[in-house]
Amino acid sequence: MQTEDRTFDVRNLIGGEWVGGNGRETEPVYDPATGRVVAETPLSTREDLDAAVRKAEAAFPGWAATPVGERARVLFRFKMLLEENFEELRDLVTLENGKDKKDAGGEVRRGIEVVEFACGMPTLMMGESVRDVARGVDNVSYRYPLGVVAAITPFNFPCMVPLWTLPVAIAAGNTYILKPSERTPLSAIRLGELLSEAGLPEGVFSIVHGAHEAVNSILEHPGIKAVSFVGSKPVAEHVYRGGTATGKRVQALAGAKNSMVVMPDAVLEEAVPNIISSTYGNAGERCLAGSVLVAVGDVGDELVERVKEAASAMKVGPGSVEGNELTPVIRDSHREKVREYVGIGEGEGATLVLDGREPPLDEGFFMGPTILDNVTGEMRVGREEIFGPVLSVVRVKNLEEAVEFTNGSSFGNACSIFTENGAAVRYWRENVEAGMLGVNIGVAAPMAFFPFNGIKDSFFGDLHATGKDGVRFFTENKVEITRWYSNPATS
Ligand code: NAD
Repeated sequence: MQTEDRTFDVRNLIGGEWVGGNGRETEPVYDPATGRVVAETPLSTREDLDAAVRKAEAAFPGWAATPVGERARVLFRFKMLLEENFEELRDLVTLENGKDKKDAGGEVRRGIEVVEFACGMPTLMMGESVRDVARGVDNVSYRYPLGVVAAITPFNFPCMVPLWTLPVAIAAGNTYILKPSERTPLSAIRLGELLSEAGLPEGVFSIVHGAHEAVNSILEHPGIKAVSFVGSKPVAEHVYRGGTATGKRVQALAGAKNSMVVMPDAVLEEAVPNIISSTYGNAGERCLAGSVLVAVGDVGDELVERVKEAASAMKVGPGSVEGNELTPVIRDSHREKVREYVGIGEGEGATLVLDGREPPLDEGFFMGPTILDNVTGEMRVGREEIFGPVLSVVRVKNLEEAVEFTNGSSFGNACSIFTENGAAVRYWRENVEAGMLGVNIGVAAPMAFFPFNGIKDSFFGDLHATGKDGVRFFTENKVEITRWYSNPATS
């Protein structure tokens, strides 16, 4: 059966068993390209979460005591299974999220790269040592897993975001509970099946589906040592405050409003396709989406003309059909919110250059590409995350003003600059307040061995996901200092 025609049974994974909804309330999962309900997500309760924690606690001592090389070997097998099932995973992402197959494949690939990174855990978990810190005294440190950890993930990367943390946490010896987005639970289920097939012991990886109650139960549960959250800013703040209040380690990756600064010397033939794909790829539902175009000096008119022309030429349609470029947003209610923002922008005095509010297709949750020009930092469309296919254009005199505009945002996830001028890049890099920077790159996504590095309101916590930060987040140190009294040479 084609992925597009299937319906799915969404169950929790607890102690290696796929457990049915037990009559819990459910939330429909839609195919955003058609509006068809493809599954129902059970909204798990405190009791369900507690059952998962108890199984994860029981599995922890055995998994933590499994040599790190053996744990890594499970991940090597998992990586092979992800490769073998690549197309199926890609199509599941397209089905439940709506993004096109190319983007969905990119997401699965980026997730696999974190698994590859985590396969190096024997090296990544190495401690440090200094011998002879005093006469006959050595100082060493060892890294240990934390225990039961949890991740709460968003709808926009249903395969990649869980894979940002689960391979690292598991390879480091933790047991891990995933609470996927209730709007996109399907990819997570497949990951769970493949982990079991790879030989992961029961209870090391669990899934508890649901929404608010499941999240709040995670924050309050004394058995959970650390929480990794990815999602919108208000919920990130809630999770950070709630989780740390109960003594947990929390990293909370939040929303964004990313500027793309275009200098007068930018190579527009190359910059414009980058801008289009950053703004409208995945229907603008990316935390790295360039949602504000900051036109510097006299580049504005030509730039807006070219972007408008390219945006208007985009093929709108289901992500499952090759060649479609603008895919649906996640829900009808979200489309309404995005459409409202366009009206708000007009009301605030922005110029509507391209209006995508009229649904271009009869079924599904599609919108056309939209451009608002002459936006300022005072306008809501200039500073709030819209998370849809809407580009706000801000015009500034010089680079100093471009940086000033960008830094006026409360968010600090990513920023891009388009220029051939190294001095401009240096000035921008040194002064701009954003944690992920792209030079002639519209989506500044770091590789798995670097941290996913939002700052300001785009991140709550200390240690980011992925890279060495990710390893530190999921481990703690013991530092040992040793002295021996007897003399083995003479005794
Ligand atoms: P969301 O905040 O609505 O949901 C994220 C998770 O929180 C989900 O699992 C959801 O069930 C849960 N949740 C939602 N509302 C809750 C509440 N009131 N109480 C408790 N739990 C709640 O985010 P989303 O709409 O799924 O995802 C889009 C957002 O995620 C955007 O803001 C985007 O920028 C952000 N995001 C950030 C990054 C990053 O790395 N910074 C990456 C991807 C997405």
